Amino acid sequence: MIDTDLKTKILHAVDTGFDEQIEFTRELVRKPSIRGQEATAQDLMAEGFRLHGFDVDRFKLDPDLLARQPGFSPVAVSYDNAWSVVGSWRPASPKGRSLVMNGHVDVVPTGPADLWTHPPFDPVIDGDWMYGRGAGDMKPGTAAMIFAMAALRRAGVMPAATVHMESVIEEECTGNGALSCMLRGYNGDIVLIPEPSDAHLMSAQVGVIWMQVTVRGIPVHVSVAGTGQNAIEACTPLFTALHALEEEWNTVAAKHEAFAGVEHPINVVISKIEGGDWTSSVPSWCRFDVRVGLYPDVEVAEIQRRLEACLADASRDHPFLSNNPPSIAWHGFLAPGYVLRGGDEAQQALERAHRVVFDAPLPRTAFTGLTDARFRGLHGSAPGLVYGAKAENIHGIDERVSLDSIRRLTQSMALFIADWCGVEAV
Ligand SMILES: [Zn+2]
Repeated sequence: MIDTDLKTKILHAVDTGFDEQIEFTRELVRKPSIRGQEATAQDLMAEGFRLHGFDVDRFKLDPDLLARQPGFSPVAVSYDNAWSVVGSWRPASPKGRSLVMNGHVDVVPTGPADLWTHPPFDPVIDGDWMYGRGAGDMKPGTAAMIFAMAALRRAGVMPAATVHMESVIEEECTGNGALSCMLRGYNGDIVLIPEPSDAHLMSAQVGVIWMQVTVRGIPVHVSVAGTGQNAIEACTPLFTALHALEEEWNTVAAKHEAFAGVEHPINVVISKIEGGDWTSSVPSWCRFDVRVGLYPDVEVAEIQRRLEACLADASRDHPFLSNNPPSIAWHGFLAPGYVLRGGDEAQQALERAHRVVFDAPLPRTAFTGLTDARFRGLHGSAPGLVYGAKAENIHGIDERVSLDSIRRLTQSMALFIADWCGVEAV
């Protein structure tokens, strides 16, 4: 618990630093940190940590070492320019309870640029909203780690316990960035991840599997199309079968209790497709990618087996696929779901911080997406609290974040850190 005078000072200190915070956040959104190009965003985070007086550890992701860790997801890309950055506050004689904060700087592709009102990597502020790819998910949260800590210093205190701020990549495809920080030895008594949540605390999240399916056909000249086999059209029954399985998982009886109140928790999405080589040739190949959600407390391998069986069954009835079954590759997410269990005292501290800022109880919501909270929650020692700003259109067009929600998030974070870790005068 922190006294009223310090609370007031902390809230005010966030306001005082807010222009600088928004400028830094904008600069971070300007870095086009799609997969493979995250290094300049990580450079900026390292610089931000350094300028605000934190120890900086910048290290490369090592796929060979990571592959031996529980929670690893396979990769088909190079990690030659893949970096994690951790900023740390280490008091001379740590007391209190330690904290890991975690945010990601990687973003998903923009889609067609002409659909955007403003260029996605040239963030525009219009009223209370900042627009840009990553402006919602989740660069404001990643930047807020620095500015919540800076606000404490401005209020004349710092945490009495060790605080690590992890800036990671690969959150959108594997989670191997967060895993690399655990492997490096970073840990704490609780984890706070400011993913956009409209100031709700995540009570549970689904897991995610990425599956890639390849179908081979028989290419012939289109004038004799009936003598070949169309690899693209052969995928249609596979889509149908996958969606039937999806609906089975969403029936009331199949739902995990943490998602009982959620209308459609499990989404199976055919999200990428390519195939064929020539408009006047029957296509000889088709490859499509599928994102599959799964409930917590279910083994990833069990769902992989269900998916394999689903495609095998659909192929058995097909005149061509029965003898030429599709092949499956797994790269990207093989991530289990996660239910927030334990960490009651940290949840109470967050509840207290939230009430000061919002004058309302802390709402709790189950997420139908996933975050890096699963890592220490499942494989480590610390529950993961996911709580962040208000964003719209994440992974979509004209993604945006409410500036006032960033300010309130930063205030909640700073109050939470002071309450949870305890403070010492600086
Ligand atoms: Zn995110």
